[in-house]
Formats: sequence, C-alpha cells, structure tokens
Amino acid sequence: MTDAIGLYIHIPFCRKKCPYCDFFSGKATEADYDAYLAVLKSRITSWANKTNRPVATIYFGGGTPSILGTKRLVGLLSHIRQCFRLYDHAEVTLEVNPESGKWLDFKELSAYGFNRVSVGMQSAVPKELESLGRIHTAEEAKQTVTLAQKAGIENISLDLMIGIPYQTKESLKASIAFCASCDVKHISAYLLKIEEGTPFFYQRGLLPIADEDEQADLYLYAVQELEASGYLQYEISNFAQKGFESRHNTAYWKCREYIGIGPSAHSFFEGKRFFYSRNLTEFQNNILIQDGSGGDEEEYIMLSLRLNRGLVFSEFEQRFHHPIADSFMKQAEQFAKAGYMVADKNHVAFTPKGYLISNTILSRLL
Ligand code: SF4
Repeated sequence: MTDAIGLYIHIPFCRKKCPYCDFFSGKATEADYDAYLAVLKSRITSWANKTNRPVATIYFGGGTPSILGTKRLVGLLSHIRQCFRLYDHAEVTLEVNPESGKWLDFKELSAYGFNRVSVGMQSAVPKELESLGRIHTAEEAKQTVTLAQKAGIENISLDLMIGIPYQTKESLKASIAFCASCDVKHISAYLLKIEEGTPFFYQRGLLPIADEDEQADLYLYAVQELEASGYLQYEISNFAQKGFESRHNTAYWKCREYIGIGPSAHSFFEGKRFFYSRNLTEFQNNILIQDGSGGDEEEYIMLSLRLNRGLVFSEFEQRFHHPIADSFMKQAEQFAKAGYMVADKNHVAFTPKGYLISNTILSRLL
C-alpha cells in the first residue's frame, strides 16, 4: 500500500488528574518525561522501519503533550521527521493546556512544523471550571490562543464540554461566545460522559448535572449557537469554519489507516486494528494487543455516519464493489421521515437530533 497514513502520539502526563477524565494519563516527574520519550522515540523508529508510507497528519494527544515543553516537543517532531516521510503540508496538531502559553515558545514550535493547536478549555465559566477540577482560567486559554496566533499558527481549536455541573443554556452560550471572541477556527464540543472508575462516577448522584433530556437539549442548543457563530458542524462533536476541519480526525472517520504510538493508543494499519494497553510498563516492553481486522462494511458505515457529509454511496461502492443494501436504504428513509436522518439518492446522514440516538439507529440499520 502507498496511501498516506496518520500518526497519533500519546503523551500520558498531566499536571493534575481531572475528576471526570478516563484518558490514560497521570502526574509524573521531569525524569519520567525523559525516560518515556526515550522509549517513545525507539518505538517511532521501529514503526517507521516497517513502512514507507508517507505521513499526512500527526496528532500529539494525551494527557497533556504541552507539559513536555518546547525543547522536548521539537526534539520529538524532529525525530519523527527523520524516521518518516512527511507530506510538505502535513497537518501537525499539538494538544495544549490553557495555561501552557506561560512556558511554550509557539514561535519555535511553529518554525519546526507544529501548525495546529488544540486548547482544552472546556468552559469559559469560572464555577463550571472549578467543578471540573480544572486548574486554569478562561483568560489563560485566551492568552495561549493569542500567543499561538501571534506566532503564525492560524489553525486553532478550543474544546468545550456540554452537560457539565452548573451548566445552563445561558452559560453555554457565554462559553461559545468566548470561543468565538478568541477568533479560533475550530471548536470541539463533547457531551460529558461519566466513565466508570472516575471520581465523577462515584459522586454522580451528588453532581448538579443535567438529566438525559436536558443534556440532549443542551447539545441541540450548542449545535444551533455554534452554527450561528460561524462554526459549521462536520461531525457529532466537531465544528469548524470552512476549510478548518481537523484532517487527522476526519481521516479516522473516513476509515483511513493510522498508527498510534503510546500506552492506550489504537492503530488501524494494513487492514488490522490493534492497540497498546493502558500500562506504561507494557508499552516499554512493546506489548501490542491485536483487535481483529478493520475497515469492513459495518465499520465503514458507522464511521462515515459520524460525519455530517454522512455515507456517500458512490464512495461506498468504490470501496466495496457493490451498492448499499436496499434494506438499509428503506430503514434510513424511515428515520429520515422522522427527522433523525437526511437521505437522498447520493448519501445518507444523521441530523443533530439523530446524532443523539445514533447508537440506537445504527443497531436498527446494521
Ligand atoms: S488535563 Fe485532559 S487528559 Fe489530563 S486529566 Fe484533565 S481532562 Fe484528562
């Protein structure tokens, strides 16, 4: 295969663990960062030795990659460049925490090829930030965005959460307006999901959060407000000004291949899905867990339907050499009549209302 791939690099460190977070991340020392980077670089080298495929996008996620500081991040990207063949205009995203503007040198990061920044702000409302255990202010997020913009990084995303403690339509509107006032090009807006094992899971009965219906209302309201502010929905939880959709994440939803490196990172490569476990020692020991083959029709349909462009029939036919089943179309038309989907002779897609019950609909369609 000669198709381009994506690279996901997981940095499993945070200054403080947030009580709702289920990502594989935790506190560590500077010495731990260096020890991890040494292992990570050797894994990157061995993956690069396995393929000649060019890299179209790189995503440094976590955890909090910005915790590593400019010098280590530049070193890591340089190492990737030495190992892999990067497209000239590869999209290179760095997740940063809102207060990272204080220690990151965005000019240097930009000079070395980081060209997209994603800032995990979550809310612009102090009481909501406090309830999420966040250790930054919205103003710090704005300062970080401004510093990145001044360094010439135009493609910036802010993360928001929907359905968090104390949130109302008014406070959500204020958070969206705050993001728009930062002049960012992209906003991710995720519904809070309370994951088993997190502190939020044990406190869930006591948390002042919206019930399921109210959460659905908040989500639909967010879609409307974001679109009115110029951020067009292109995926269940992602909104962008035209031309600023995340290329890396879109490739996941288009069922393209990628290699994920780091504990908890998943891959889809050479037709197979596999992942590293949520365990640093196992990553150090290079233990990969196989997860079967990927990219079959069912998976392709499910991933395509996460995108607003939906499932495009001509693309499906090109990939699988037969048209979409009549039974699928008949069911989709029923959901379209009820306002959960849009369907025409070229494509089928969820409406925002449909996204809210997409799992139920998919179980009927597939
Ligand atoms: S900063 Fe992000 S990755 Fe780290 S604990 Fe908080 S939510 Fe999770």
